[in-house]
Amino acid sequence: MSKFIIHRSALLILAGLLLFSGCNSKTANGPADLVLRNGFIYTVDSLSTKVEAVAIKGSEFIYVGSNSGVEDYIGKDTKVIDLENKLVLPGFIDSHCHTVSAYKQFYELNLYGLTSVKAIQEQIKKFRSANPDLKYLKGRGWSNTNFPKTGPDKKILDEIVRDIPVALSSEDGHSKWVNSKTLELAGITRSTKSPAGGVIEHDPITGEPTGTLRENAADLVADIFSDYSVTQLIMGLEAYQKMALAFGITTAHDAYLDSWSNEITAYDSLERSNQLSMRIRASLYVDPEKGLEQIEPLIKERARNKGELFQTPAAKIFVDGVVEGSTAYLKEPYKHLPNSRGEFLWDMDKLNAMCAELNKNGFQIHVHSIGDAATAKTLDAFAYSMDKNGKHDFRNMITHLQLVSPEDIIRFHDLGVVALPQPYWFTKDQYYYIIQVPYLGQKRADEEYPMGSFFKAGVVSASSSDYPVTVPCNPLIAIQTGITRLLPGVTDSTEILFPQERVTLEEMIRSFTINGAYANFQENVTGSIEKGKSADLIVLDKNLFDIPVDQINAARVLRTIFMGKEVFLFSSESN
Ligand SMILES: [Zn+2]
Repeated sequence: MSKFIIHRSALLILAGLLLFSGCNSKTANGPADLVLRNGFIYTVDSLSTKVEAVAIKGSEFIYVGSNSGVEDYIGKDTKVIDLENKLVLPGFIDSHCHTVSAYKQFYELNLYGLTSVKAIQEQIKKFRSANPDLKYLKGRGWSNTNFPKTGPDKKILDEIVRDIPVALSSEDGHSKWVNSKTLELAGITRSTKSPAGGVIEHDPITGEPTGTLRENAADLVADIFSDYSVTQLIMGLEAYQKMALAFGITTAHDAYLDSWSNEITAYDSLERSNQLSMRIRASLYVDPEKGLEQIEPLIKERARNKGELFQTPAAKIFVDGVVEGSTAYLKEPYKHLPNSRGEFLWDMDKLNAMCAELNKNGFQIHVHSIGDAATAKTLDAFAYSMDKNGKHDFRNMITHLQLVSPEDIIRFHDLGVVALPQPYWFTKDQYYYIIQVPYLGQKRADEEYPMGSFFKAGVVSASSSDYPVTVPCNPLIAIQTGITRLLPGVTDSTEILFPQERVTLEEMIRSFTINGAYANFQENVTGSIEKGKSADLIVLDKNLFDIPVDQINAARVLRTIFMGKEVFLFSSESN
């Protein structure tokens, strides 16, 4: 009898110990489907804990801890992976990109990286002969650095294509270069005035349109170039997803979708057919030409997209253009155009009312802002919304942030605004020398793209690529650049852009993981390796904490797991 009592109480003590330690017994949770052990697992939890092992069941982590602790989760059907001390991070999150534009990168005329007129003409000829039935020719990727000031000329295109319309987007997507046929079909002549928020470039001597259309002026030719089909967009999304998973990206925010567009249908059909292997959050476009009557349709569109993986909780607003188009809105005039401060695309009263109404209806607002004045005005509109609606967790976001006044950075914190920088761009590249120094002057060019100041002010900073503006959109390149603020391969310290804004490796990792999760209201779902969260992780071939910082961009992802499933495995062929 007494033997029995001792036995029973021992069991009770054991059960109590298990409960108290928070450790799950085999029977409660295990065995796991998948265990990864012997790793250097950087969890990105609130204490940046490092552990050795994780156990995954279904789509979730059920254990995060030591090699010995994970033993309890290994059953006869559990797959066990020996990490051989490799670095494991949460799956990366790209908080501002244009994934649905992938069709263009993979299947359209591609001019990225071409610097000479001759090379561009050759590429167009090659594409045309490979696609002889084209009714129009679309492409992208030419750089303003090769055509400063007034942009490229239609004559370059006319020399090789006269019979069908041509429209080529600049690599930042903010300008279109068209041929004479396009101008003719759109009825754009020397007497056509630039539309609000856009510029038709004219030859300063003849007054003829040159063939470069900036910002809203590109809309004048949109009807000539019809949309992509759902099938084409799905092809693009599949190609993007394959590339993103190989870079370790398991969540992306598509920063611009039109309501009821083929793009949304493409996402929707991918999710319905279980072909989506990553999480997509997206922003619905808000038109500055229209008023508050847009809100109802936006609410309806948001309600349609409630899949587990694809949702559209945010609203996208452009408040200015870009420096290379002289359309970013600045506090002081451009150096090369002393009478211009660029363009603010909204009437301020309209913007205030729109932001207040969007937030009131539960939309997170995602703003494109490049110039310092554009960001200041955007913050004014967010402050107006907070005044009207009271202090709520809106998590409005501002992306790009090329020039930001120090006094505005603290306002991000006070208003709970998330900063979405693109650290890929934090270098003295061609843009810096050919565009930014002459357009902005030396001082402003040298104070571009703050990031450290956002961290110091306690602002949540979530990194992003703006893909396909940035190709390749490999977060490891951005992690290195955010730390060094140097072009990969460059060591000269005078080439560091805005040195005091450099951040640490830990901060860069957070910006691509937990901060990205926060930016997308997903911090309870993903962004860190913690029990109960979605099992999204990547295994790298090199430990970023052990290698010289200038080698981070050469590290690579060996394995990507999303919601507990292996979605990418490196093989020498995938290289
Ligand atoms: Zn963008």
